[in-house]
Amino acid sequence: MAVLGERAVVLGSSMAGMLAARVAAEHYRTVTVIDRDMPPAQPLNRRGVPQGRHGHVLQAGGAAVVDELFPGILAELAADGSPVWDDGDLARVLLEYGGHTFVRSGRMAGLTASYLPSRAFLDWHVLQRLSMLPNVTVLGGHDVVGLTSSQDSRRVTGVLLAGRDVATNSVLGADLVIDATGRGSRVPFFLEQLGFDPPTEDELVVNLAYTSQWLQVAPGAIAEHMVAMFPRPGDLSTVALIGHENGSWLMTVGAMAGQQPADSFADMLVIALRRVPAHIRAALLDAEPVGKTAHYRVPSSRWRRYDRLVRFPDGLVVTGDAVCSFNPIYGQGMSVAALDAVALRRCLHRGDRDLPHRFHQASAKAIAVAWRSAVNADLALPEVAGQRPIGTRLSIRFLDRVLTAIETDQVVAEQFFRVTGMLDAPTRLMRPSILARVLRANLARPRPVEQPELSLAG
Ligand SMILES: Cc1cc2nc3c(=O)[nH]c(=O)nc-3n(C[C@H](O)[C@H](O)[C@H](O)COP(=O)(O)OP(=O)(O)OC[C@H]3O[C@@H](n4cnc5c(N)ncnc54)[C@H](O)[C@@H]3O)c2cc1C
Repeated sequence: MAVLGERAVVLGSSMAGMLAARVAAEHYRTVTVIDRDMPPAQPLNRRGVPQGRHGHVLQAGGAAVVDELFPGILAELAADGSPVWDDGDLARVLLEYGGHTFVRSGRMAGLTASYLPSRAFLDWHVLQRLSMLPNVTVLGGHDVVGLTSSQDSRRVTGVLLAGRDVATNSVLGADLVIDATGRGSRVPFFLEQLGFDPPTEDELVVNLAYTSQWLQVAPGAIAEHMVAMFPRPGDLSTVALIGHENGSWLMTVGAMAGQQPADSFADMLVIALRRVPAHIRAALLDAEPVGKTAHYRVPSSRWRRYDRLVRFPDGLVVTGDAVCSFNPIYGQGMSVAALDAVALRRCLHRGDRDLPHRFHQASAKAIAVAWRSAVNADLALPEVAGQRPIGTRLSIRFLDRVLTAIETDQVVAEQFFRVTGMLDAPTRLMRPSILARVLRANLARPRPVEQPELSLAG
């Protein structure tokens, strides 16, 4: 593979940074990954990834990319204790989406296996594989405090680092800097320092508060691999219960758009017991909390539009949550980071000329699909404030019809899983064969009275 430069520096060693580093290692003689945190010696939650204490699902589309970049890693996760949902048995997942409960009998023959490692377990496995690459170094204990540039500021030439333990500043030169420092990325500020405009932002305020608790659940008390109850009009709570490695269970409860968040495990139970069916209620009432309750707030879904900037310095690209962070209830962030890595790989295969522009355009295509689906799902909730132009209202209405069909039709359910799992484009739901099934299911079911917010009138 063509060598494009001596050194690439990746800022941030979380999912987006690790996958980007793996891709950069194909084209740069050395890759240095910088993080505030030291690389963990075992699976554990890092300070720099506080969201890792909360329910994380790696969608099938993201898992496929991770396995392509690190062949065999999914099998390693399973061998080390991660549960795998590989038989498509619909009784093994309980999902309620927009007030519709997925069909619970039968098998989805064509669905790819889903792996259910906890976030810390997944990241640690990816880090192990990344660290095995001979030209990659992970350098912890350093804060990224600035970018260096050529005299005319047209090219980023490296990063300014501050040591965490020893208060020293140093400069690390780079032919390519990849920013993957997450939602708090300071690239907009660094751009202004270099004389460039910062990106504009698209934003939908969701005011989500997550509360999570590890649980000890009696073996076999929950037959499902995963339970996920998404917000529905009139009740903006989310309840997720995920069976992770080695029999551990993580419960996450969310409250959106001003709904009262859970402070304690007792509060979480009140919300969860309201949402889940009787057999899960019984298991939860018997479960023992393990460790402390964790909290996290996400104010909004936010997309920094680097793809729209006309002027941007060479030698710098931005990826992952640093570009777009979503309402996490839809579990998209890591998979979008994976699709970003694929886009970066394709762009680097064609050389580094005009790389920032080409990459930001390419990654925006994957982001746009995930963004529209998350934003439309949020706007389907009348309580979420935001513009609902005609196209959005039509999409919301169509989604509701599809979800109605999912209550009874395995084929539609499978197609929906493939779309939300980022394996297929949303347009696959509009194939005539699927539309016919959606129509049949909706005709067979009496419809409730429409809510005015979702009406097409006006
Ligand atoms: C509560 C919650 C639940 C989520 N659930 C899911 C889910 O179920 N499925 C899913 O796919 N996604 C989920 N996500 C999104 C997912 O966590 C992110 O998309 C994913 O971590 C990729 O983010 P990232 O690597 O871009 O940034 P981050 O994960 O935020 O990592 C940023 C890294 O940069 C480092 N860093 C930051 N600033 C500096 C600096 N100045 N100097 C040095 N190092 C720095 C940090 O230490 C960290 O390692 C969830 C997010 C949240 C908030």
